[in-house]
Amino acid sequence: MARYTGPVCRMCRREGVKLYLKGERCTSGKCSIDRRAKVPGQHADARKKVGEYGMHLREKQKVRRYYGIQEKQFRNYFDMAAKAGMTGENLLTILESRFDNVVYRMGMAESRAEARQLVLHNHFRINGKKANIPSLLVKVGDVITVSENSTDSAKIKELLEGLASHISPKWLDVNKENGTAKVVALPTKEDIDFEINEQLIVEFYSK
Ligand code: SF4
Repeated sequence: MARYTGPVCRMCRREGVKLYLKGERCTSGKCSIDRRAKVPGQHADARKKVGEYGMHLREKQKVRRYYGIQEKQFRNYFDMAAKAGMTGENLLTILESRFDNVVYRMGMAESRAEARQLVLHNHFRINGKKANIPSLLVKVGDVITVSENSTDSAKIKELLEGLASHISPKWLDVNKENGTAKVVALPTKEDIDFEINEQLIVEFYSK
């Protein structure tokens, strides 16, 4: 399935929650879900009544959209999590460990979509090595740094300035001077500041 390229705020309205897909705009008074929390579409009111399947589907879609992941990849993560047991919790750890998410969570991008672009454009390294794959999963001990060639980039400079006021999760040890982060623990559900019922996702894929 192709990546969604339509208006991103529409996805929040569809899920009925803020998915924080547009950076600063999401916390400003301009957020469209704050202004009109209405499901998009002509038959929106009819769609509000969801059955059990719909509830499971919506939770899966909400989380998939929150992390900006395609269905196939999301399903792969689910299978990976299921193999290790504790499926729901493992799934959240895997999602949160994605390289693009780590860049966002360390404060070096305003949204996950921006983090993805910055990673694709080689602005970061992992353990000193080239790393331009957003779906890479980080491990405890990994160190993320800004690429040497990117330190003069206006965007990177702007992000570094904003780090001072950024609050990073405790599983990342962030150096706010140079935008370096060390993964000091694997992220758990408690580290995710977004309401997720992972059991609904497990039930969705277990049917
Ligand atoms: Fe969602 Fe952000 Fe748009 Fe609000 S501004 S609807 S949180 S993407």
